[in-house]
Amino acid sequence: MTLALEMRSITKRFPGVLANDHVNFQLRKGEIHALLGENGAGKSTLMNILYGLYRQDDGQILLDGREVQINEPTDAIKLGIGMVHQHFMLVPVMTVAENIILGTEIVRNGFVLDLDTASRRTRELSHQYGLEIDPDAYIKDLPVGTQQRVEIVKALYREADILILDEPTAVLTPQEADELFVIMRSLVAQGKSIIFITHKLREVFEVADRITVLRNGHVAGTTTPTEATRQSLAEMMVGREVILTVDKKPAAPSNSVLKVEGLKAVDDRDALVVDGVSFEVRAGEILGIAGVQGNGQTELVEALTGLRRCLDGRVVIQEVDVTNASPRKITDLGVTVEGSAHIPEDRHEHGMLSGYPIADNLILNSYYRFPFARGVAMDNQAIEDNALRVVHEFDIRTPSIYTPAGSLSGGNQQKMVVGRELSRPIKLLIASQPTRGLDVGSIEFIHNRLVTARDDGVAVLLVSAELDEIMSLSDRIAVMYKGQIIATLDADLASREELGLLMAGISKEEQHATT
Ligand code: ADP
Ligand code: MG
Repeated sequence: MTLALEMRSITKRFPGVLANDHVNFQLRKGEIHALLGENGAGKSTLMNILYGLYRQDDGQILLDGREVQINEPTDAIKLGIGMVHQHFMLVPVMTVAENIILGTEIVRNGFVLDLDTASRRTRELSHQYGLEIDPDAYIKDLPVGTQQRVEIVKALYREADILILDEPTAVLTPQEADELFVIMRSLVAQGKSIIFITHKLREVFEVADRITVLRNGHVAGTTTPTEATRQSLAEMMVGREVILTVDKKPAAPSNSVLKVEGLKAVDDRDALVVDGVSFEVRAGEILGIAGVQGNGQTELVEALTGLRRCLDGRVVIQEVDVTNASPRKITDLGVTVEGSAHIPEDRHEHGMLSGYPIADNLILNSYYRFPFARGVAMDNQAIEDNALRVVHEFDIRTPSIYTPAGSLSGGNQQKMVVGRELSRPIKLLIASQPTRGLDVGSIEFIHNRLVTARDDGVAVLLVSAELDEIMSLSDRIAVMYKGQIIATLDADLASREELGLLMAGISKEEQHATT
């Protein structure tokens, strides 16, 4: 077995954070090595060190057994290391070939001749690895998945032998992800070595040869998909036992709680991003809205919760028309019709007041009501009792209920928001990306709470870009594409593949026509 790369005892500190703590990492020639870990585990830092974007405080990097100094990306590129970042670095108004030669300082023959070489090489590489890229296409016209391949070709054009892919599937539909995995296989079959960063368990089983798990900046272990189980990997990632299955009884939906008809809304740049959306959520069911990020889901949720103007159409909650009603009125419907709860997509924007104690955050949208308010005074005992109960029930790890919410870890902040929203009587729960950025343990916990809410007769609207989350929780699944619901399926009958095609905008009719 030959090592392509060895990182020895790499240590990197940022102010207040030990991002990499004596990390040992070995990449074999011709393997796909997954670097698995929760948000903040130190994966990107380790790879940014390898690519010369950061300099390690301590530790060595060895290539083919020889120590190398990598001070900047050009050093890494010269040593045959290429990196595809989470956010692509392509120029939209330029062609594929132009982007590929951009930044190669070897403009030997002048731009035009190099452009010819780049086009020819792109075709060759594209053919060799099954990338299907047209060198003359403009980046702005290409789907995200293809843009990502351009980044891969760019690295290959610079003769990379080691490819670092940082969370490459985050922006892809399931089909695009599958296609990427095929390309990755083809690359390693022809001698390349790949470091594949991910936080998704399913993906490491699909494509990795070996897996190194990072937790809190250190290596929790290295294993293989055959030796490991979902369970064992999840435990390595979070450092404690986790339960991964959602227990779900068949749904028993009853009356309609949320009815949306022909809803239209524009985004902050005035583009119509919610374009005539209609659906209904009944008590006791979870309607999942699937879709690749950026297809209008955020604006839809904002329009439903009074945070964005509806241009057209109607929103009806418990038979009350709440189109363009204030958020407070929508929340306040809770008093009479047991209301609607909203788990915001971005905790920091709408979900909490970081500087305020947990106890206060737990009554953010009910402080003006009984039992917390009595006339103009606040009832501190009731606030404290409530906080102690929710902290216990939702397993919020905190030294005290008076700790400022902002000093909790991300997972605990999220549990606080969910705890607040689910611990008052509700009829409708709109959960938008409820587990984004959470560790697998907390994700599991929140999933179970959503199912419990549904079993208690709450109507749940789940909006998520994570298809696995949508599939494991929903009773019905609506797919949103370019501002429209292009299909609604019974969750039991919907396959990953079909949903993936719908997420790419390929309708059921087209799917049947092509098969
Ligand atoms: P991952 O990629 O596994 O999600 P990162 O490597 O991005 O994790 O981050 C590891 C830790 O280092 C986190 O606590 C993060 O906040 C911190 N960190 C990463 N980059 C920087 C930076 N440039 N400055 C300060 N802190 C950073
Ligand atoms: Mg990262």
